[in-house]
Amino acid sequence: MDNIIELKNVTFEYTEEDAVYAAVKDLNLNIKRGDFTVVLGHNGSGKSTLAKLLNGLNKPTHGDVLVDGINTRDEENEINIKRKVGMVFQNPDNQLVASIVEEDVAFGPENLGLAPDVIRSRVDDALKAVGMYEFKDSTPHRLSGGQKQRIAIAGIIAMEPECLVLDEPTAMLDPKGRAEIIETVLRLNKEKGITVVLITHYMEEAEKADRVIVMNDGVIIEDNTPKEVFKNVESLKKVGLDVPQTTELLYELSKNGFEINTNIISIEEAAKEIKNALHLEEN
Ligand code: ADP
Ligand code: MG
Repeated sequence: MDNIIELKNVTFEYTEEDAVYAAVKDLNLNIKRGDFTVVLGHNGSGKSTLAKLLNGLNKPTHGDVLVDGINTRDEENEINIKRKVGMVFQNPDNQLVASIVEEDVAFGPENLGLAPDVIRSRVDDALKAVGMYEFKDSTPHRLSGGQKQRIAIAGIIAMEPECLVLDEPTAMLDPKGRAEIIETVLRLNKEKGITVVLITHYMEEAEKADRVIVMNDGVIIEDNTPKEVFKNVESLKKVGLDVPQTTELLYELSKNGFEINTNIISIEEAAKEIKNALHLEEN
């Protein structure tokens, strides 16, 4: 099967007292195995609600979510589904449970009832995969935010999920921590083949994704490659999103009659494009 996750006409409603609010509306979405998907959207657009639908933490009010072909309504497969789709949340402090890094990472595999030597090797592999092996005997609360979040990711990786869903994992981190997380997640996707769904409101984090989905008011309004999505500067701004600064710069230049491509995100490519437009020699 090509798709690790399939959403079929999924609606999710919150009910508060007498009020019913649909946070996700009749959504159809397939997540392809091995893909790196970034989900963008302003606050309240339904991203977290969607994230929790992907591993059965939220059950659809209407419609179905299939994980590796298994319906998330199937209670007998609840653990199986949570193993296949691991979740990482915003606040690393809420996700760390033990006072020693390697014990923390071992927590998930222990709950799976794996043999001690298997647990040990999974913990070591997971810590290496996030670049935190040398901290295995450290105390998590002494680590930086980015390091703590990498430990939280290791704890999920140690359960060997097929898909990793990260809900604004960089929101509480400084720029260095954010870069660490994006680099780690990209590596897990490229080297270990883990499917990634990264929810973020930092446009720059979408640069290296295979696919960018933009949510607004519970529906998907854009679904394309990063370059194509960031071409639509005005429509992104309309739904409260900022485009990457490089894209914005090129867009402003193009608006002022400069003949230039605007579907560029990286600084290197932007520099090349500007040099070309100015007929400067490459060096
Ligand atoms: P995002 O993650 O994009 O900020 P959410 O999925 O958290 O969006 O929320 C989508 C909408 O659903 C928002 O309008 C929010 O107020 C509402 N919502 C979220 N959680 C609850 C809840 N537990 N009860 C009622 N409404 C909620
Ligand atoms: Mg959210």
